[in-house]
Amino acid sequence: MKKNVAVIGYGGQGSWHCRQIQNSDVVTLAGIYDIEPKKCEAAENNNIRVYESFEAVLEDSGVDVVVIAVPNDSHKEMVIKALEAGKNVICEKPVEMSVAAFDEMAEAAEKSGKLFSVHQNRRWDVDFLAMKSIVESGEIGDLIRIESRIHGSRGIPSDWRCTKAQGGGMILDWGVHLIDQMLQIFAEDKIVRLHCSTTNITNTEVDDGFKLTLYFESGREAYVEVGTYNFIAMPRFYMQCKNGTAMITDWTKKAHVAKLKAWHEKDVLPVQTAAGITKTMAPRDEITLDEYDIERPVSDVHDYYRNYCAALGGTQKPLITLPQVRRVMQVMELAFESAEKKQVLETNI
Ligand code: NAD
Repeated sequence: MKKNVAVIGYGGQGSWHCRQIQNSDVVTLAGIYDIEPKKCEAAENNNIRVYESFEAVLEDSGVDVVVIAVPNDSHKEMVIKALEAGKNVICEKPVEMSVAAFDEMAEAAEKSGKLFSVHQNRRWDVDFLAMKSIVESGEIGDLIRIESRIHGSRGIPSDWRCTKAQGGGMILDWGVHLIDQMLQIFAEDKIVRLHCSTTNITNTEVDDGFKLTLYFESGREAYVEVGTYNFIAMPRFYMQCKNGTAMITDWTKKAHVAKLKAWHEKDVLPVQTAAGITKTMAPRDEITLDEYDIERPVSDVHDYYRNYCAALGGTQKPLITLPQVRRVMQVMELAFESAEKKQVLETNI
């Protein structure tokens, strides 16, 4: 039987959840609650039931799952209340603003025996899945370094995302997705050092971009960058492996792979540069390098709710686990510390 879901917050993401739920094969929409009367009116106009309060949602025994899609500073209080009321809970990302706050939520989940999950929906992004599958297949050998970037040019949104107390800024907003993706690739490798620097080009209160490098025990590296003042965007993904390079220029594009066929080349033709010639930087030819695109993987974001319901029914393990969510939170917390201290930090996570 389909699970009944109520959504708290009918803003950008809450209304996205409602549309997903209305088109789902595993969940149905019980209704919404939003603190803003205008948002409630909008929901009613879309024929969605509106609860009169958060408490009314929690008191409705017909509601199996509560989705928390409000600004980040209200996540902890609402998640804990919902768990204590006996509801299963899905919280929007970032789960909270500190590891300590997350631990309180995880403890409440443990006590309640209910299923608590965080909506890390960008695990279903096809660009990320393409890079992950190239690493896992070993097609171009062992990973050396992967770079994950998103570049926009419009600054950060002018809503609560500009306010530090509400959990604004790009580390918490986009960083949480990109770090979560990276840690899926490096699930078995420990981070031993990290460095982060932030930008404040369009506003001063929160970061409007950041550059984060993660150094792993294995010697591999991951680089994560978010920019909101980049009028020319760099590639979405760039990855060096022992036997080749892979790149995705943007969300909509296939992965392009350059695979080494032979290391040694005969008679390399030097390339002319401004101040002289170079063989070191001369491009390779098809005798030693094979270049091709990889088909985009098939992905369905409805699988998030499918997995959540299967986990509720005990037929699948949750794909998004609380230890994974905690590790992402730890990285974000260290990223803020590194940026503030302007230091490389040692760690073991
Ligand atoms: P938003 O400002 O568009 O919407 C937030 C809504 O919450 C507003 O309608 C507001 O009135 C309501 N609200 C605030 N306090 C409330 C309260 N106490 N009770 C009930 N309603 C309340 O913000 P958004 O973009 O929808 O972001 C909401 C959450 O979703 C954030 O945590 C954000 O990080 C997350 N988000 C996730 C994704 C994703 O891809 N997973 C995308 C966007 C946003």
